[in-house]
Amino acid sequence: MARFIFITGGVVSSLGKGLMAAALGALLQARGYRVRIRKFDPYLNVDPGTMSPYQHGEVYVTDDGAETDLDLGHYERFTGVASRRSDNVTAGRIYQSIIARERRGDYLGATVQVIPHVTDAIKAFATADTDDVDFVLCEIGGTVGDIESLPFIEAVRQLRNDLGRGMSVSIHVTLVPYIAAAGELKTKPTQHSVRELASLGVQPDVLVCRCEHPLPESERRKIALFCNVPKEAVIPALDAPSIYAVPLQYHAEGLDAQVIHAFGLPPGREPDLARWVDIVDRLKSPEGSVTVGVVGKYVGLPDAYKSLNEALIHGGIANRVRVDIRWIDAELFEGDASEIVPRLEPLHAILVPGAFGERGAEGKIAAIRFARERRVPYLGICFGMQMACVETARNLAGIPAASSTEFGPTSEPVVGMIHEWMSAEGLQQREEGGDLGGTMRLGAYPAVLAGNSHAAAIYGTTEISERHRHRYEVNTAYRERLEAAGLAFTGMSPDGRLPEIVERPDHPWFIGVQFHPELKSKPFAPHPLFASFIAAAIRQSRLV
Ligand code: GLN
Repeated sequence: MARFIFITGGVVSSLGKGLMAAALGALLQARGYRVRIRKFDPYLNVDPGTMSPYQHGEVYVTDDGAETDLDLGHYERFTGVASRRSDNVTAGRIYQSIIARERRGDYLGATVQVIPHVTDAIKAFATADTDDVDFVLCEIGGTVGDIESLPFIEAVRQLRNDLGRGMSVSIHVTLVPYIAAAGELKTKPTQHSVRELASLGVQPDVLVCRCEHPLPESERRKIALFCNVPKEAVIPALDAPSIYAVPLQYHAEGLDAQVIHAFGLPPGREPDLARWVDIVDRLKSPEGSVTVGVVGKYVGLPDAYKSLNEALIHGGIANRVRVDIRWIDAELFEGDASEIVPRLEPLHAILVPGAFGERGAEGKIAAIRFARERRVPYLGICFGMQMACVETARNLAGIPAASSTEFGPTSEPVVGMIHEWMSAEGLQQREEGGDLGGTMRLGAYPAVLAGNSHAAAIYGTTEISERHRHRYEVNTAYRERLEAAGLAFTGMSPDGRLPEIVERPDHPWFIGVQFHPELKSKPFAPHPLFASFIAAAIRQSRLV
C-alpha cells in the first residue's frame, strides 16, 4: 500500500511548495521508489482551464486531456511520471460532483455537509488510483489559515488517522524572513503557522524553511523546540541558482533522509543523483549562449509560459548553451512597424507561442513574416502555427483577407473552428457558441509525419503523440494553395483530416505545430523540437 506525504504551506504563498514536492519526488525516485504527485487546489473553479493566464499562470494539459495547475508541469519535469486527470482536483470539482450526486438523490435524504461529505470526497480523491506507487505526495494549494483550505486540511487530518501509524508524513513549508535592520532571521511566523496547522489536528513531521540567508543552528534549534519536531527535520531551503539545482540542494540539507526517517523506514542506499549533477553542470558552465525571442501576449507574467520557458532551457541543456529568452509583447509591432527590425534583428530564433483571441495577432504575423523573410529559425506553437499559415496565405498565396474564425466571421477562414474529430472516447462534435470550459480538443493525440520531412528527421520517427489544447485548426481547404506557396503540411492526424505540423523546406528552420511540445520536455530528456530549434539558433548566432 502507498504511503502518503502531505505538503502544506504557511506564512505566505509562492514559497515554492510545488517545486519542493517535485524535487522530493525526484529524490525518492533516485532512492528506487515509485512516486506520484498530486495537487489539491482550494479555489472554486472546476479547473484552471477558463482562468486567465494572468490569474493563474499556464494551464498544464495532461495526456488524458485534463486542464490542470502548472505545478503538475513541475512534477512531470522532475519525475518523468506523466500526470493524469486524477492528479489535480479543485474544491470546485469536488463540490460539483457532490451537488450532482445530491440532485440525483444519491444521499438518500441525508443532510449534505462539509464533514463528512466533502472531506470524504477529498480523501477518495487522494487515495484513488495509487496501487502502482510507493509514495503519493499530496500538495495542498494555498496557505494554512485560508478559509478555502480548511476542508482539505481536515481531510488530511482524518486521512492520517485512517492510514495509521507510519503510513503518512506531514511536511510544512514556511518562510523565515530576514529583517535587514536587525540583521536577523525571524522564526516567529513559522511558529505561528505550525501552531495554526497543529490546531487543525495536523502536526508536521518535517519543516521546510525558506530563507534568504543561512539558518543558524541556534534558530534551527529554536524552531525545533517550539514546533515540536526534531532539529534535523528542520530543513533550511535557501534560494537556488536554478530550479534544477533544487533536488541536489534539498538532498544536501537532508530532506529525503528525514522523510524516510519520519516514516520509520530504514535509511536504505544513497540516492543516485547523477542525472541532476549533469544537468546542473550543463547549466552552470555553458559553452555559449543564444537569444530567443518569444513574441506573445501574456509576456508580463513569466508563469503564463512556464513550460515553454523550461523547454527552451532544456533545449539549451541539450546543446550546452545558455538560452536568453526575450519576452516581446506582440502588440509592439502593431501600428508602429518601426519597432520590428530593432527588436527582432538581434534574435537568433523567434517563437510564437499558444494564445487565445485576436489581441496581438497582427503583431505575431509581422514577426513570423520577419522570421520567414530573414531566414531566422522559427517555431510556431498552436496559435503560432495557425498564424504562420495566415501569414503565408496573405503574403505569398494571394489571399489578403486570410484570417481565423476565432477573430469573427471571415470570407477566408484559413483557420476555422473544428466541428468534429475522433478522440479515444469516440466522435467529438462542437457547435459555435457552446460551453468554453473543458470543450477544446485536449490531451494526447497521435500524428503521422511525412517520411522526408524536417519534422520526421528531428523526431527520428514518423509516428508521434503530442498534447493538444485548441478549438481551431488550419483549414485543409487551403492546403493546396499554402503548399504551392512553400508551406508543406508534413504532419497530419492519422485520418488525414487535421493538420498537425507545417514547415518550409526552403527555410533553414521553420516549423509550426498544432500541439504543445513544451508540455512533454524534461531537463533530462529535452524535447527533440526544442533541442533542434536551439541548435538552429546556435547556427544562426554564427551568421549574425
Ligand atoms: N486559440 C487557438 C485555438 O483555440 C490556439 C490555441 C492555442 O494556442 N493553445 O485553436
